[in-house]
Amino acid sequence: MHFFISEEVRGDKLVLKEEEAKHFRVRRIGKNETFGVIYEGKIYLCRALKIEKKEILCEIIDELSVKIPEKKITLYQCVTVELKTVDFIIRQATELGLHRFVPVISERSFRKKEAIVKRKEKWKRIVREAMKQSGRAHPVIIEEPVYLEDINPVHEENILLDNFTDGMRVRDINLSSKDFGVVVGPEGGFSKREGKLLREKGFKSVLLEPYTLRTETASISILSILINC
Ligand code: SAH
Repeated sequence: MHFFISEEVRGDKLVLKEEEAKHFRVRRIGKNETFGVIYEGKIYLCRALKIEKKEILCEIIDELSVKIPEKKITLYQCVTVELKTVDFIIRQATELGLHRFVPVISERSFRKKEAIVKRKEKWKRIVREAMKQSGRAHPVIIEEPVYLEDINPVHEENILLDNFTDGMRVRDINLSSKDFGVVVGPEGGFSKREGKLLREKGFKSVLLEPYTLRTETASISILSILINC
């Protein structure tokens, strides 16, 4: 099914505007076809009543069930030197069901805070696109960047993806937990000092077997495991 995002309700109809209206017309959806419209955390089955250049008026036929993952995961992702890699992680993580994304500035990460703050608009756009792709009703919450020193083990289960320490294996994580924080390093990994600092704070090192992964592979793999187990 095709999904669109609406920000406006008019009477008992939903309205698609600007980018969404354009996206709708590109898909060449006819008046007798149905599609999904995401509006304020809900998804409606709709049909187009009026298709205009700048606006699509949608009649609501039914309310569809919204799927929300049982596990709330916050990803503390050290911002990669290649910012495009973070774009990729956010897209895939939205599809997988990530709850919250925190960009982290670490010793070997991309370090220009201003540029990261600016990138947030793009990340929000990517989240919207991925929501439509996957029929997800709630956006990923994207936080402001923080320094690695300032992150704390505030979740029920606090994980540090760490390819240097002989840490826990995935099967040893408390998978019945509903609230996870996961920290993942940038392309160059964490420094020894950073690994020690996070472990001392209470993050538990987890080793994904058997190889060393790219940061994006590591982030996406752990999300997929935690959400589906
Ligand atoms: N250049 C580093 C690799 C960094 S990989 C090196 O030579 O070792 C980037 C990040 O992905 C790591 O900091 C870690 O958070 C995560 N990662 C990659 N492979 C992993 C694995 N096998 N187990 C746990 N974390 C891993």
